[in-house]
Order: sequence, then structure tokens, then C-alpha cells
Amino acid sequence: MSVLDCDLIIVGLGPTGGVLANLTAKHDLSVIILEKENKLYNLPRAVHFDDEIMRVFETIDISRNFLKKTIINKGTRFIDEKNNLLLDWPRPKIITENGWYPSYRFHQPDLERSLRKNLSKFKKVSISQNSDVFSVKNKSNFVEVKYKNLKTNKVSLLKSKFVVGCDGANSFVRKAINSDLEDLGFQQKWAVIDVLLNNKNVLLPDRTIQYCSSERPATYCRNVGRRRRWEIALKSEGDEKDFLKEKNLWKFLSRWVAKDDVQIERKTVYTFQSLIAKKWSKGRIFLAGDAAHLSPPFMGQGMCAGIRDVSNLAWKIAICCQNFHNNLLKSYQSERYNNVKEYINTTMNMGKLLNEIGDTNVSKTVKNSNDGKRTMTSIKPSLGPGLGKKNDTNRGKVFPNMRLNNKRVDGYFDKNLILFSKNNYKNKLIKNISVQQFETLSCALKKFNSEALIVRPDRYILSSTNDNNLDDFVDKTMLEVYDYNKRY
Ligand SMILES: Cc1cc2nc3c(=O)[nH]c(=O)nc-3n(C[C@H](O)[C@H](O)[C@H](O)COP(=O)(O)OP(=O)(O)OC[C@H]3O[C@@H](n4cnc5c(N)ncnc54)[C@H](O)[C@@H]3O)c2cc1C
Repeated sequence: MSVLDCDLIIVGLGPTGGVLANLTAKHDLSVIILEKENKLYNLPRAVHFDDEIMRVFETIDISRNFLKKTIINKGTRFIDEKNNLLLDWPRPKIITENGWYPSYRFHQPDLERSLRKNLSKFKKVSISQNSDVFSVKNKSNFVEVKYKNLKTNKVSLLKSKFVVGCDGANSFVRKAINSDLEDLGFQQKWAVIDVLLNNKNVLLPDRTIQYCSSERPATYCRNVGRRRRWEIALKSEGDEKDFLKEKNLWKFLSRWVAKDDVQIERKTVYTFQSLIAKKWSKGRIFLAGDAAHLSPPFMGQGMCAGIRDVSNLAWKIAICCQNFHNNLLKSYQSERYNNVKEYINTTMNMGKLLNEIGDTNVSKTVKNSNDGKRTMTSIKPSLGPGLGKKNDTNRGKVFPNMRLNNKRVDGYFDKNLILFSKNNYKNKLIKNISVQQFETLSCALKKFNSEALIVRPDRYILSSTNDNNLDDFVDKTMLEVYDYNKRY
């Protein structure tokens, strides 16, 4: 093999690249991150993430400090032009199966700072800013990347075992692997206005409000500290040109705040789109985050989806870097695609409801509650087909982060898979945690109606069994992951 510069090159240091770098660094990989900007993007974009994502933040050891910069989100209400409640999506302050509160509000630059700060702990990770990647090519058993230093114009070449394009919506890497985008059908321009309250006592809703209207759909977000956001659909060409002008903006904002109440931090126009790349990889080159899919922000799941992508990729890349086969990585797109598509479809249904061209049945989790209200609970899409057996109904579901004595399940994971079983089981291939050690584990095994489950490092169930002879179960599952015979 040609002499390589590192195990992994990550193109782009947004939240997706930052989480991937932290996860793979924990697997002890050598990582080079190439980022074209010379500093962090300091303006807010994502403002929400959920309990599953907090598990990833805990895995990469940033949750403790970052938590201080978040608030717990109370939920979302969809109301009509007469203020009637159409749909309620409460996020009660109760610890979920993921071991955290259901939903948090945050400021994206705070997260990106935490991710970068944490990376400085790892000697085998380097960040190269001002580095604009313009060529990515698969070679026989490595990838060649060329980039230009935007300050000096110097062109450099690097070689690595794998490359992941986390380079956002206009991804160069996506173009380099000739991957087209599939349009799922939502496209609309929206103005986004971020403000800082001058006065804490301004009376504003304590949660997200989706104002459904055929004329002027809008969203209000209660963000961290003094931050608040309004997003407004722009329905005509005139709107696009003129809405952000002082006079027009205040015609809209004055329904909630007076000029003296706020400082406008930024105002801008985005095109909200629903797109998925048709091909998420070629050879040893992969796409993740906005490079692979784009969603309107009505569910606050765009960045979360990117973090799920890299959580799926990181442990697989780590195993493939240890000189085992590459087949494991073939499961990446098929596992992630259905999961992200369900989030995007639900978001598009919310977009239709907001525009008053759809109804409240935005997902299968919408029900009539006892008081006659339409209420939604969060969706929990499983992984699409990939590793594990198709007929195993537990495969691809998230394993709960329950308490086992003084630690939660996640505290027992290091880099590898874990076998959770009723009886103790010794096998050098896999770590075992049993009901005999922790009685509380029996609830999870009961829930999944299983004698034993193998859980992946991204906390998804890989396989389950009702057989109490575990030898065959463990051997077959581990063979699928490590495929000992096919080293390259
Ligand atoms: C208004 C709005 C609200 C949102 N709200 C939410 C929310 O509440 N929750 C949520 O989960 N998501 C939300 N999102 C989506 C979220 O912001 C994005 O999904 C997320 O930022 C994508 O992260 P990323 O790392 O994939 O891409 P990016 O953040 O775009 O990062 C890509 C990086 O790659 C770099 N790059 C690009 N090309 C190259 C190159 N050729 N060479 C080197 N570097 C390169 C860029 O400079 C950039 O730093 C929202 C988005 C918007 C617009």
C-alpha cells in the first residue's frame, strides 16, 4: 500500500464533520480535517436537537459542559390564523428511554466551539483551515485528496484510507462522486430573523409556535438565553426582494415585540428544500450531513440527521481501518436512507400544514388525546436494511439508555459492540453485560422479547435471539461485522 498521511480525511468542519472527528478520534484513528473557512461560522442556524443526539454528545465527552449552554425545549404548537390549536407536539420534561430530556435548544456556534475544543485533546487529529478541497479520487486501496490553501494558494496532496465529505449543502465531494440529488418535493423561500432581547420581561411564548396560514406561514422559536427567532415564508417575488426592509420587517415583528425590545442579530433568506443524494458513497469516499440530505427546519432535525449519519459511519470506519474488509461500510447508505427520509417526509407534512395545504396527520404518531386535542409524539424511525437479519424485528431499533446501578448503559460502551443477555456469557469476541449482573436489564430484554441482544457502538440493536445457547448467535453476528476471512 502507498504511504498514507492518515486513516481518515474529513472535508468540512461543521457540526457533522466535528462530531465525526470526535467519534473517530475516540477510536484512536489518525484524522485530518480540511476546512475552507478560516474561522467558525458564528451565526445561528440549528437551534434544536433531541435526546438521541445528546447520547452522541455524551459519547464524545462534551455533554457535561455543553449542557450548560442549552435549555430544555417545551415543545411545538401548530395554530391557525385565529389562534386555534391545530396540533400539539409537547416535549415534557421527563427523562426518556435515551436517558436525557426529549428535546433541547442551543446556539449552533456554541456546539461547534465545544466540538473544536474537544478535538484539541487528540494528538492524532489535525485541523487545516483555509483549505479548499478541489479533488477527491479513489485509488486502488486509498483515496487521494487535493486542496488549495486559500491564503497562500499552495496546492497540497494527501492520501488516506477513507474520506468523508461533510462539506454541506453545496458539497464538492458529492459532485466529485457524481451523485445526483433526489427532490422529495418541498421548496420554499423563508426569511429568518434572529434577535437578542434587550429586556428579559418581554412576554413571548415559552415554546415553538408554528403559525399556519395560507398567506403568511411563520415559526417562532424560543431559543437559549435572550435569543429568539422568527421564520417567515416568502410567497411572492416582491416578498423576496422587500420583506427584510426595515419597514416591512417591523410590520411583521410588531405583533410580538417593539423595536426597543430587541436587537436584530441577523436577517437572511434561505431556500428550504427537501433533497437526498442518490448515492452516498463511491469506493472509499462517503457523504454525510447536509452533503447527503437537506430538510426544511420545521422539526429541527437537519443537523441531527447528519450526526446520526456519522454515528453510523464512525465505528464502521474504525473497524475497516484495522485492516479488515470494507463490506461493513456498504450498509451505511441503506441503513441511514430510510431513517432520514422519514424525518424529511414528516417535516414536509409539517410544511404543508404550515402552508394550510395539508392536514394535522403529519405522522403516524398523531392521535386525538382525551381532551379532544390533536397531539403528536416524536417519531422514532428504525434503520433501513443493512447489517443484521431482515426478519429480526428488533434489529435497527435504538437500545434504551437505562440505568444499570450507578451508571447508564452508555457508560458501559467503549469502542465495541456489547452483548446484553439474561445469563452471563464468556466469549473473547464481545463484552457481555447480563441480568445476573444488573437486574434492571431484564426490562429491556422483556421489551424486546429476547434472551440476548447485540448492540452496536452507535446504540442501535444489531441482532436479537430467543435461543439461550448463544455460541452460534454471537459467532454469526460477529462474523458479519468483522468478516475475519476477507482481510485486504
Ligand atoms: C434556518 C435554519 C434552521 C435550522 N434549524 C435546525 C435545527 O433546529 N436543528 C437541526 O438539527 N438542524 C437545523 N438546521 C440544519 C442545520 O443547520 C444543518 O443541517 C447543519 O448545519 C449541517 O451541518 P453540516 O456539518 O453537514 O454542514 P455545514 O454546517 O454546512 O458545514 C459544512 C462545512 O464544510 C465546509 N466546506 C464546504 N466546502 C468545502 C471544501 N470544498 N473544502 C473544505 N471545506 C468545505 C464549509 O465551510 C462548512 O464549514 C437548520 C438550518 C437552517 C438553515
